[in-house]
Amino acid sequence: MGLLDGRIAIITGAASPRGLGKATARLFAEHGARVVILDLDADQASAAAADLGGGHLGLACNVTDKAQCEAAAAAVTEKWGRIDVLVNNAGITQPLKIMDIGPANYDAVLDVNLRGTLYMTQACIPQMRNQKAGSVVNMSSVSAQRGGGIFGGPHYSAAKAGVLGLTKAMARELAPANIRVNAICPGFISTDITAGKLTPEMMKGILDGIPMGRAGEASDVAGCALFLASDLSAYCTGTEVDVNGGSLIH
Ligand code: NAD
Repeated sequence: MGLLDGRIAIITGAASPRGLGKATARLFAEHGARVVILDLDADQASAAAADLGGGHLGLACNVTDKAQCEAAAAAVTEKWGRIDVLVNNAGITQPLKIMDIGPANYDAVLDVNLRGTLYMTQACIPQMRNQKAGSVVNMSSVSAQRGGGIFGGPHYSAAKAGVLGLTKAMARELAPANIRVNAICPGFISTDITAGKLTPEMMKGILDGIPMGRAGEASDVAGCALFLASDLSAYCTGTEVDVNGGSLIH
């Protein structure tokens, strides 16, 4: 028996082959969910969905565009009549210092990570309210909690801290509707988000700060997402769960 048998789960930014979204999609599918992969490119989203096996869906959706978020949610509701889980995973980062953050950098990073989380959640709330149940999982970052120090610049930390505030406020407002909203704060996980931009010195510095002495795997984050998406976490809302090998023990 799967923890998500019969559930419909939307995951944004889940086409990246080694990413946290794809690993989460794979684990959700293994636990019986029908998964909807949203990403920028329609072909890549479809290919990622097909890669999970039959019965899943891949759609193009730029989460910074409210109309595209609404269209994606409508397509899912029309096809399957429910949206049980939303994982707001789409995100981008940039390794910039304060004075190097220009208006376009600020807009890009805040828009995908924070505005996209708001828009995609708004798109799913009406259906979750109708069915009187739902679980939203937002991908924040340890960068929000400790002010960066891994890869992303201050605008990334601010965006991910914004995701934490948004998570808690939405959790409070949506709890009476039986919609839970939680955040995951991954530490350093090996994916393509740093796209070959890490020098050996940066890598050593990062690993020295992780008590468990290793980078995280995408599957480490997927396991936490499964917990928060499923009824195992039925009484958890407004939480931020650390998945970081001990790099922020506090
Ligand atoms: P990734 O780069 O492998 O995947 C991100 C995906 O988001 C890509 O498929 C990309 O096409 C998609 N995307 C980008 N902009 C989008 C948009 N506007 N609309 C829809 N999709 C869009 O990254 P990842 O490492 O898997 O990161 C996933 C999430 O986890 C991100 O939110 C990231 O900030 C967060 N995170 C990652 C780490 C890490 O160490 N990898 C740590 C903390 C938090």
